[in-house]
Amino acid sequence: MAKILLVTFGPQEAGLAGGFATQLGAEVTVLALGGVPSVGFPVLDAGFAEVPPSDTISAAVAELAKGYDYVVAVSSLAAKDLLARVAGHLDWPLVNDVTAIHGSHEFQHPVAAGAAVETVRVSGYGVILTFRPAAFPGTAPAGESTKESVSLAVAPGSRRTEAAARSGSRPDLAQAKVIVSGGRPLQTAEKFEQIIGGLADALGGAVGATRAAVDSGIASNELQVGQTGKIVAPDLYIAAGISGSTQHLAGIKDSKVIVAINKDPGAPIFEVADFGLVADLFEVVPELTAQIQQRAVAL
Ligand SMILES: Cc1cc2nc3c(=O)[nH]c(=O)nc-3n(C[C@H](O)[C@H](O)[C@H](O)COP(=O)(O)OP(=O)(O)OC[C@H]3O[C@@H](n4cnc5c(N)ncnc54)[C@H](O)[C@@H]3O)c2cc1C
Repeated sequence: MAKILLVTFGPQEAGLAGGFATQLGAEVTVLALGGVPSVGFPVLDAGFAEVPPSDTISAAVAELAKGYDYVVAVSSLAAKDLLARVAGHLDWPLVNDVTAIHGSHEFQHPVAAGAAVETVRVSGYGVILTFRPAAFPGTAPAGESTKESVSLAVAPGSRRTEAAARSGSRPDLAQAKVIVSGGRPLQTAEKFEQIIGGLADALGGAVGATRAAVDSGIASNELQVGQTGKIVAPDLYIAAGISGSTQHLAGIKDSKVIVAINKDPGAPIFEVADFGLVADLFEVVPELTAQIQQRAVAL
């Protein structure tokens, strides 16, 4: 059976790889760089208090990867940064954002900001992949498995000078099952937080924003969704006061259900929405939030 080295940056990521590994027909060993997961896969614990910068550990990860057929990670900026360097060390092919597996060396993934889907066949012994978890339903086996410590040499290189925790307790956009996003019409940061944040909190979801909202100072930069922001894949994406530009849609097309609230019935967001409400967001979103709070529906 082929062997996967699954590189994880947080304890929850290993659980997302079950469906992917099953489709690839390969057995998984987790290399835990940030937090030890509790899953039924064997775990190699690198023992880092905080994941070191990619350039300092890529050579050590590449050395470890030589015993595997695949090096895999859940798609994220950190994963792409590290795995691209590992691919360089090993001279193995790399395919990012895999959404379907067509064979042991053939993978489908979106390109051109999601405007096209490409299928690539790679050659060579080892293959390096990042995958979008929403495209591969199925969880990892539960329960305890073997855990071993592994020592990864940290080479001289970049040094993190500061790391600030994100404020609040909302889920991370990249992993959230529910996202409520707002656009330019929210006008001020206070209204954005009250209206978009209020609905997100009622649903136990994350908050997202358009670039127009970020550029006008209504929402913070890390909330931007889209081509030049985060690519998200929640079960439910609620877009309030968002026109549906191609750049924004590039970040949300893997969402399972899209709900659009917009007062212009001709807004392009309605072309991709599963459910659309032509209404003023300042009226309907607070109303929706109140209804959900009354019923205490947390997803
Ligand atoms: C190179 C490049 C990269 C980009 N990357 C991104 C990206 O990553 N992410 C991104 O989002 N954008 C990106 N953009 C910007 C993008 O082109 C759009 O300008 C942006 O997405 C529009 O944001 P918006 O929908 O909030 O604003 P608008 O286009 O102003 O749309 C607002 C919408 O809200 C509706 N509306 C107004 N008032 C109300 C109300 N009271 N109730 C309900 N609906 C209302 C309007 O009918 C309209 O449809 C990028 C642009 C470029 C050139």
